[in-house]
This record gives sequence, structure tokens and C-alpha cells, in this order.
Amino acid sequence: MASDGSDSPAALMGLAGRAGLTAVALTDHDTVEGLAEARVAAVDAGVRLVPGCELSCEVGAATMHLLVYFLSDGPAPLQDRLAGLQAARADRNRRIVQVLQDHGLDVTLEEILDEAGGGSVGRPHVAGVLLRKGYVSSVQEAFDVWLAKGKPAYLDRERLLPTEAIALAHASGAVAVLAHPTSLGFDGPELERFVAGLAADGLDGLECEYGRYAPDLRASLRSLAGRLGLAVTGGSDYHGRYKPDIALGTALGDLQVPDDLLESLEARRPGR
Ligand code: AMP
Repeated sequence: MASDGSDSPAALMGLAGRAGLTAVALTDHDTVEGLAEARVAAVDAGVRLVPGCELSCEVGAATMHLLVYFLSDGPAPLQDRLAGLQAARADRNRRIVQVLQDHGLDVTLEEILDEAGGGSVGRPHVAGVLLRKGYVSSVQEAFDVWLAKGKPAYLDRERLLPTEAIALAHASGAVAVLAHPTSLGFDGPELERFVAGLAADGLDGLECEYGRYAPDLRASLRSLAGRLGLAVTGGSDYHGRYKPDIALGTALGDLQVPDDLLESLEARRPGR
């Protein structure tokens, strides 16, 4: 994976092939950089790749995850927007460093990039450098004193909203699915209202068959999807050794995502 999994995209395709999966989706967080490698490896492994990504979208003060499946190959509006967001993030990191330097702290952008070791760089890495250099005694203190909203080195970040993310997915040949739907803390009627709002914005599916969900929660999410006319999807949310209890495809051991769910989801691709 190119974001926060421990296996490379190629290794993941090999694993999917050996596990006997019909198809596997690669959905790195806010990047499509792993897809080219995965495409080649999927052919070798004899497994079908569903190219995608998992977008972080802002809902009030919280972050919602939107799964995007069947991204078309090559340049598309979503890929362009992701590149723009990465550039804005890089610029923000530079400005955060400038504020800290203006306050007399000896930190550099290079130290923050080193701290991150690649991938998406942000405030947690700034906090790590402040901690390492003894300016604070914990990451939390770095946020409380410098980086949290309202503190001197807080700078707002360009935000992707769910409506825009869904539209970008569709404009890029893909479908949009709400990942692990209870993560925002909503349940019951509140969850239904929230998902209905997304459905009105064009949401295509709901990740009901989620590896960590108990059977009754999966069933109630399937009912919700049915009431709102959304496709049911599933996934193990495999992250390699970063989530060691989760196996590819089967999650905690009991997950089975039937092939017909993939077919129903694919039928919702724009232009089909
Ligand atoms: P960024 O994407 O650079 O804005 O950083 C966001 C990350 O910073 C979040 O995912 C949290 O891990 C962390 N974070 C944000 N606000 C706080 C806070 N007030 N205290 C501790 N960690 C925070």
C-alpha cells in the first residue's frame, strides 16, 4: 500500500492471489500512487484489481472516510484534486515551520519530512520534532501549546467535503461508498439521517460487511442500505502488520464478501 499499510501494492496482490480472492481493491488514503504497481502485479497474481482510494472528508470537526472504487486509469479530476491537496498540505507545512521559527524555535522542514519518513506529512510529525528537540514533553503538549486550533502554529487546511468527494469520484468513472459507517459515532435514526443526506448527494454504497462489525450490526446496515437504495459492499480493511489481527479478505476470520456484491456495485459505475 502507498499510505498506511505495511505491504507493498505488489505484495498485496500476491497475497490476494494466494488467498484465492476473486478481486481485491487497493484503496490507499488520499493517494492513488500505488495503483500502477498494483495493476501490473494483479495480472501476475491472477487476481482482479479494483482500483480505488479512501478519501478523508470533513464533517464538522470530524473526518469521514469515503471509499472510491473503479477509478479510471490515468488522469482524472479526482487524481488532479488529490495532487492539489497534497501541494496545499506541503505549503501549509512550510508555513507552520515559519511560524515556529518566528517564535524562536529551531525547527526545519527537513526535520519534519524526516520525521514522517514519506507519505502524508502533517501536524503529528511537527509534534514529533518538537518532542524530540525538547520543546515539549509530549505530542499532546505540542498540540496544546502550538498546533491545536487557536494555537500560534495552527493553520487551517484545505478540506474535501463529502459532496465534492462524491462528485469527483463520479467524474473519474468511479463509485463512492461510505466506509465503516459507524465511525463518525452516529447510530440509529441519526445515522440514517446522515447516510440519507449522503445518498441525496449521490452516494452509491454502504460498507455493511465490515470486518470488525458483529453480525447484527452488519445486518442492520444492510437494512439501512436497502431502505436508502444503496449498494451493499464489504471489505477486510487489511493493513498488514499494522492491524495484525485482520487477515486479507476474511478479516477476523468470519468475513465473506460474495462476488455478487462486486457485480452490483460495478453496475452503478457512471455511464453504465
Ligand atoms: P493534519 O492532517 O496535519 O491536520 O493532522 C491531523 C492529525 O493531527 C490528526 O489525525 C490527529 O492525529 C492529530 N491531532 C489533531 N488535533 C489534535 C489535538 N488537538 N491533539 C492531539 N492530536 C491532534
